[in-house]
Amino acid sequence: MNLIQIQKKYGNNEKCRAYLEKLRWGKTVKCTKCNSTNVVKLKKQVGRYHCNVCKTTFSVISDTIFEESRLPLPTWFNGVIAYADDMKQSEPKDEIIPLPYIGRTERYGGMKRSGERDANVSTDTEL
Ligand SMILES: [Zn+2]
Repeated sequence: MNLIQIQKKYGNNEKCRAYLEKLRWGKTVKCTKCNSTNVVKLKKQVGRYHCNVCKTTFSVISDTIFEESRLPLPTWFNGVIAYADDMKQSEPKDEIIPLPYIGRTERYGGMKRSGERDANVSTDTEL
């Protein structure tokens, strides 16, 4: 993927957030604290949700490495994509699968060998 394609696909926070939401939750948003689906989207705070069970607010980047970062999501995406492209060139293609989402280690462990794929991680999603 070249820089123009990256810019078109992940050039702003909304596009990156939408991608991460699809990757993390699919079609059903779940609370990052209690895993409840009884959540509502906050109208005044873009990308934030309120859990009606544990009364917390959260977003798709809650409990991930993105949460404490000052870097905007598009900057992260550019770095991850560049890293993934570099890995494709330096490693056998079936040996290492770079995953763009690095967060809860039990579900999104970053890099996994192809033989150790996590059943919860869809490999159909393409950057
Ligand atoms: Zn909750």
